[in-house]
Amino acid sequence: MNLMVFGAPGAGKGTQAKFLVEKYGIPQISTGDMLRAAIAEKTDMGMEAKQYMDKGGLVPDSTIIGIIKDRLKKEDCEKGFILDGFPRTLKQAEALEELMNQSGKKLDKVLSFDVPDELIIQRIAGRRVCPKCGASYHTEFNCSQVENICDCCNDALIIRKDDNADTVKNRLENYHNQTAPLIDFYKKMGVFTQIDGSQKLMVRKSLIWLQKRCLVRYKKSL
Ligand code: AMP
Repeated sequence: MNLMVFGAPGAGKGTQAKFLVEKYGIPQISTGDMLRAAIAEKTDMGMEAKQYMDKGGLVPDSTIIGIIKDRLKKEDCEKGFILDGFPRTLKQAEALEELMNQSGKKLDKVLSFDVPDELIIQRIAGRRVCPKCGASYHTEFNCSQVENICDCCNDALIIRKDDNADTVKNRLENYHNQTAPLIDFYKKMGVFTQIDGSQKLMVRKSLIWLQKRCLVRYKKSL
């Protein structure tokens, strides 16, 4: 099964993708995570991408399409995958279609999480993430058990560098101008499903479920 989670930054795509990874046993392919890993490794590509990411801009299509092309060729994608944060422009969506056609695959569903901008700003302002396992918390809606410490791996939580008020404004603008037009693209393909991502209960339930699974895995590894 080939899925895509779609929505504005902070809409909960990553959280829902992790939920789907557990449910279907297929990998989450997050371009944001891949870029952050490249930055941590200080690769040339990572250093170039950082300049765009720090300002809340989009990394050039050619770079992103290259990353996805290599990633989708890997063996773990054979049974399916969950795209998270890709595509973000029409050019990327067209490149994905070409890649899928070339490999005889098709996109089964685009799950779009609809959240009003005001709620996104609130969510991003309180977001804390674990640099090790990627678990996401919120200072108000989903606190870690010990303040600023990941429940799963005990690492100190961090604020993402691009989770600040100015950058979020740019990221939302980019979403509305460049990414939201893809809604029509996927509606025409007949794979688009809209979900109300502002429901606290759905988000909360998914997070609790994920964190329990994460904790079980952590305890097993001890
Ligand atoms: P995310 O973790 O998905 O919020 O992505 C963080 C940042 O990485 C974005 O604000 C962009 O700067 C960059 N990025 C991630 N995915 C893409 C993409 N598909 N196209 C362009 N830039 C991207």
